Amino acid sequence: MTPPSLRKAASGPRLVAVSNRVVHPRSAARGGGLAVALLDALRQRGGLWFGWSGQISDHPDTRPSVAESGPIRLATMDLSQAEHDAYYNGFANRCLWPLFHLRLDLTAFDPQHYDGYMRVNRRLAGALWPLLDDNDQIWIHDYHLLPFAEALREQRAKQQIGFFLHIPFPVPEMLTALPHYRDLMRSLFSYDLLGFQTEDDVQRFRDCAVREFGAQLRGDTITAFGRRLTAKAFPIGIDAREFAEIATSPTAQQEFQRVRAHREDRTVIVGVDRLDYTKGIPERFRSVECLLDRYPDTHGQVELLQIAPTSRGEVPEYMAIRRELEQIAGNINGRYAQLDWEPIRYINRPLGRRQLAGIYRASRIGLVTPLRDGMNLVAKEYVAAQDPADPGVLVLSRFAGSAKQMQSALIVNPYDNTAVADALQTARYMPLEERRNRHAELMQGLLRNDASAWREAFLQELQRCSAQREDPASPTAQAA
Ligand code: ADP
Repeated sequence: MTPPSLRKAASGPRLVAVSNRVVHPRSAARGGGLAVALLDALRQRGGLWFGWSGQISDHPDTRPSVAESGPIRLATMDLSQAEHDAYYNGFANRCLWPLFHLRLDLTAFDPQHYDGYMRVNRRLAGALWPLLDDNDQIWIHDYHLLPFAEALREQRAKQQIGFFLHIPFPVPEMLTALPHYRDLMRSLFSYDLLGFQTEDDVQRFRDCAVREFGAQLRGDTITAFGRRLTAKAFPIGIDAREFAEIATSPTAQQEFQRVRAHREDRTVIVGVDRLDYTKGIPERFRSVECLLDRYPDTHGQVELLQIAPTSRGEVPEYMAIRRELEQIAGNINGRYAQLDWEPIRYINRPLGRRQLAGIYRASRIGLVTPLRDGMNLVAKEYVAAQDPADPGVLVLSRFAGSAKQMQSALIVNPYDNTAVADALQTARYMPLEERRNRHAELMQGLLRNDASAWREAFLQELQRCSAQREDPASPTAQAA
């Protein structure tokens, strides 16, 4: 095999995207916003998408399976059951996920999970290395792959490498509870660019780098461990124009009619989430209970339609939240239901994007109340799906990253059941003109900061800071 350094460089940088799961372009819509945004970029420029195949195998191959789809090359690796248990279910989803979402009480620190996580990162990086060209632009995604660049640099990779964290970055007090936080923080300094969802996340990263490692700050650059990187916020967007279009597609219209049929003037409040303890669904149910307690005119008139398919079903904390929700919904319905009405309808399975778009459009209120969320794309999808002439109202948690950009929503504290109940009542009676104005402002923001703007901003910045790194005259050239 030709060593990467001897290969002829392509004319412009090729994009190499690396994420935990690789989704085939045929099923991109099911892969969610990240899959769609990455595939658009890969289609435009050509490129490689590398990651886990989603398959568990008794004897995983040491080399990736490679498939071509138009200008996109997909390279995937299987994992063994032990790798999957330690890397994915273990360290990523039972340690990093709860810790980064401020749930220290649910965080499992298991040294074997950590070792497995590091091993999988090294194995995947080693498998990607022979597929790389010298001037590739490499973009790594999310908390499953924090040490991926360091593993590539150990193979002597010199390419520009950027990382985007889709989840929040924690406060230093939380991060430092992690026994391995020094190693993980050091590994992040192998990237040229770190992208976060919000300015607050950038600030927490900087605080941690300064307090714990004496990092030096200069503009957006941070120097520590003898390396310099750029850290900036790139709030992720959706393809709002496309989502607005699919909300009027025949499937969406059919779903719209199904929701509206038999409900006459009832107010439908919609909640759509992966079933996850960060999404605040029990607190949401309690807020609806509080609405029913405080405002008797809601009886028989308001329904929460909660769509929450099981996710990460092998992780014990996710089994517990499912049981808890069924119990709370049962109690509230038992207390308030009438012969022809129940206040909470809870659907525990995934729906297609077109169906979801129709349900969003048929719902007078979108209730998005995570306790902590990197961004939350459901809030954006709900707005994009509305009829601009008669739009619904978004009630949004202040702890979702999207709240920073969506101040024309009704912003609430999801822990405060009374305040959420009052916001729901305000939304019910909000005059048409105010609904239109708020919707127009939100929609403008979604169109301006859509998925392609997010992607282009990140990749341009990666190009810029990598060029500076290579220019020895630049004040931001590498310290080491
Ligand atoms: P997270 O990435 O934590 O799951 P986001 O709100 O950022 O949260 O993204 C969730 C994505 O998954 C959205 O694109 C949303 O449409 C999709 N999704 C969430 N719940 C469902 C569901 N019940 N059926 C289908 N898609 C869903």
